[in-house]
Amino acid sequence: MGVTKGETGLTRRTFLKAAGAASVASGATYLGKPALGALALDPQAAYADPVEEVVECVCRPNCHAYCRHSVTVRDGLVVQSEMAHFPEECYDRICLRGVSSLQRIYDPDRIKYPMKRAGERGEGKWERITWEEAIDLIATKWKEIIDEYGPQALAFHHSGGDVSLLNCWPTITRFTNLLGGTYIDYNTDMGIDHGTSQVFGMNDWNGPSSNDPSDWKNSKTIFIWGYNVTEANIQAWHFLADAIEAGAKVVTVDPIYTKTASKSDIFVPIRPGSDLALICGMIHIIIDEKLYDEDYLAAKTCAPFLVNQATGKFMRASDMGVAPTEGPVNPATGQPTVIDPEIVWDAATGEFVPADQAQKPAVSGDRTYEGEKFRTAWDMLCNQMDEYTPEAVEALTDIDADTVVELAHLEAGDLVSNIHGFGNGCYVNGCMFGHALATLAGITGNVGKSGCSVGFPVHVGVGVNNQWLRMDLAKIPSGIPTLILPEVVETGKFMGEDFPIKAIHFSNSNALSNTVNHNELREKVLPKMELVVTQDVTFNDTVLWSDIVLPTPNYYEEEEIVALFFAQHPYMQHSAKAVDPLFEAKPDSEILRMLADKLGFGDQFMPMTDEEAMDELFDTPLGHEIGLTFANLKEKGVIKVPGLDVMFEGQKFTTRSGRVEFYLENPTARNDYGQELDIEGSHLPHWYEPAEAWPENELFKKYPFVVITPKGRYRIHGQWFNVPALRELDPEPTTYLNPEDAAAKGIADGDYVEVFNDRGSYVCKCILSDAIRPGVISTPKGWQRNQHKKGGYQEVTGGHFDPFSVNNSFYDTLADVRLWDGKE
Ligand code: SF4
Repeated sequence: MGVTKGETGLTRRTFLKAAGAASVASGATYLGKPALGALALDPQAAYADPVEEVVECVCRPNCHAYCRHSVTVRDGLVVQSEMAHFPEECYDRICLRGVSSLQRIYDPDRIKYPMKRAGERGEGKWERITWEEAIDLIATKWKEIIDEYGPQALAFHHSGGDVSLLNCWPTITRFTNLLGGTYIDYNTDMGIDHGTSQVFGMNDWNGPSSNDPSDWKNSKTIFIWGYNVTEANIQAWHFLADAIEAGAKVVTVDPIYTKTASKSDIFVPIRPGSDLALICGMIHIIIDEKLYDEDYLAAKTCAPFLVNQATGKFMRASDMGVAPTEGPVNPATGQPTVIDPEIVWDAATGEFVPADQAQKPAVSGDRTYEGEKFRTAWDMLCNQMDEYTPEAVEALTDIDADTVVELAHLEAGDLVSNIHGFGNGCYVNGCMFGHALATLAGITGNVGKSGCSVGFPVHVGVGVNNQWLRMDLAKIPSGIPTLILPEVVETGKFMGEDFPIKAIHFSNSNALSNTVNHNELREKVLPKMELVVTQDVTFNDTVLWSDIVLPTPNYYEEEEIVALFFAQHPYMQHSAKAVDPLFEAKPDSEILRMLADKLGFGDQFMPMTDEEAMDELFDTPLGHEIGLTFANLKEKGVIKVPGLDVMFEGQKFTTRSGRVEFYLENPTARNDYGQELDIEGSHLPHWYEPAEAWPENELFKKYPFVVITPKGRYRIHGQWFNVPALRELDPEPTTYLNPEDAAAKGIADGDYVEVFNDRGSYVCKCILSDAIRPGVISTPKGWQRNQHKKGGYQEVTGGHFDPFSVNNSFYDTLADVRLWDGKE
């Protein structure tokens, strides 16, 4: 690195203070002493000094908890993080990452100054530059690119490293749209929700949601699908513990005997990627044994809707000559809705009538109207599920037929929750898993009431004013998927049109660490970029491969508003600034302001103060209802958003019909990139196998292991990867293997192994565990590439995705494993 120790940007006095505080805060880890000792800092000592100040900040790394922290500041330096309180005790929490936050602030690998690359990309050689030079270099290059190729040649990739309003999505989205740049969709953890939200509808904020986790205790039975609550979502564990204490029966479906599984009544050790088949089998049994309530199906679901067998569309009033009328404006789209009621057969009168006018809607029976053939959606579902007998499902899932039946009986009971994490969404059939799971809950009536959660337990959306984001200027509203970025860059085409991308800007995303098929992004995209700019806090995989690096603050170093974005509580929050940003770090919004000024659109981007910008963002019906202004939130600390305890309460769904639409009349894609969609084959849930991770795949003969990269308790995606206190507990990248598999490969516990396939490889320590299903390699995620002995785990993950959800399929990956030969 070209930065010498003398170039810290601190005076000698402040440097010594910072260095001293860092060693206190981190337990002098860097002097070789145990880091955990420092985290046991005596709270009394922390409060003893009258010049100390305690402020409330929000931890916001996209782990969904958004914990409030009491941050103790002594002489301008953070010395302790503790749990702060919400008005409701059940949301009080903090985890090991939270209490070790100060070691992230005073991390010696923090980016201190703006820097430009001084060697080859990835070589790690840097030259310190001033902010003025950095902004000038970027703006000059961007202007050249705009002049030659147009503004869409500038790509912006941002994600949830700091999930907030001022320095995350809203500002970067507004900046990208005003500039005319291209938004790159990060494509992560969206698969299942895309399936479920089409069946139930989106919430008012255009996001899928589930009941609040505080409602889990009202369930009699809880199915946990591919969701290791005790590790990957530790803050939610106590809600599950409360439910268990209240008598809930817990069923965990997972290929790994997780800690969550160990707390469950039933563990279902399923074959990776086959959960969808199990759900189809359970629906089959519920239909076969008539474990459903026909009146409920007729009143609350699309079961009685008549489907035109030629077009696949619902029969509507307009088919009978009644003109559609204009309905209320959809708050998510801002467009008026169209009222054209679905038609059913009324068995009481023997007539075709709008669904809400039928006395006895028939859920079954074929009809003909003016020569066209119609069948009820229910009959079509029954027909579709016919093949998923318990025996057929046993063959697919490796779960014996009797267990499939037992599970179906449990699902058909009262007050059943179906909670998932993101594991099932990590295969190309993840979206269909979501569609099937929503169908299962929808036909049993276990949705839209207390005790019946369905989905990942979060509240989604920020209720922000879309006009402020200037979404009307977005070139491609849903963005170009990261998953097709290599192809777009290589061909220079998007949707058949010329679309050169010549520069990329990363913020809050660490895309190289968090995206599948690392080598493809690194080798096919970055070499064709004339400029790679990254705004971040710490040296991570993406920073390493950038041309210009801009330092940004840690959570405690800037004032922020934290909204409900995949949040596991119902509070909008103010996060105070505890200390000034270290070194020369600047908030993302300030950096974007500087760039906008230099590029000549500063007067449109954020000419107002941060407070005024937030107030414009809160200028929504919800904001007015709950008194949401910057000043009010700052004064109160938190403001609760009402009505989030039970989603779709009263079984009022936000689909076009207001019902559970297990038959998708118009299956839609999350991103439009000109893909072909199999609409006809996607109306109803059905099983299909993963793209790669499946025994019948020819590649399985060469690479017989499915690679799973679960979220763990020590890192959030690529964050906290280098925190000493956590590395004491989890020192280095590891992979878990079943002892039988290891024995067959001559691998012993503690050996370094190489996991490899045609895409790449990585080397890390192997831990043998009976908890791992044979044929599975489990490598907890979040480590950076250079922390492995060789390669990195995202080198082996594949770029498969389904065209509807366009989602990273991290686990749809086959590989093999061998003892490492020690060669680099
Ligand atoms: S990392 Fe997540 S769970 Fe841990 S303290 Fe921060 S917000 Fe809370």
